[in-house]
Amino acid sequence: MNTPITIGISACLFGQNTRYDGGLRREQGLLDRLTDKVVLMPLCPEAECGLGIPREPMQLEGDSENPRLMTITTRRDLTDRMQTWIDQRLAALTNETINGLILKARSPSCGKQVAVHGPGEPASGPGLFARACQQRFPGLPIADEEELRDPARLADFLKRVVDHAQNTQENPK
Ligand code: SF4
Repeated sequence: MNTPITIGISACLFGQNTRYDGGLRREQGLLDRLTDKVVLMPLCPEAECGLGIPREPMQLEGDSENPRLMTITTRRDLTDRMQTWIDQRLAALTNETINGLILKARSPSCGKQVAVHGPGEPASGPGLFARACQQRFPGLPIADEEELRDPARLADFLKRVVDHAQNTQENPK
């Protein structure tokens, strides 16, 4: 394959101090398995949309199909700010040609399946960035770091990433 395979990755998993508390969640085992095979492109929705580091913790609330991103203590609604950044970033990602995404589990922005808090039955859904990626790039392989600790699931994910890259090269936009 001529073009290197690129995978977007939550910046905190890549080792950047982007978490709400200024920390990181470097996923060293995963990085060791990937760095000689693919180009990793770190992304942090919360830091890149200007929420700062550190920042107040937040969570998803309301309708699980259309949740709001709310700070837990001061009750600020950050949904519109995040959505504006997502719209701009995904437009750019369309041209950058990523072949997969590795997202931080249980984050209200990056998580594939996180709690949505509300008065009714316990609910869950994707974080705002994860949901937008699923909708914008329906064929894109997306996994979280907890899934990829399983060698069989990592191998399957990488196979799907390679298939995506080959398909993209054979059928350029
Ligand atoms: S989980 Fe996502 S939004 Fe939170 S620090 Fe990591 S990359 Fe940033």
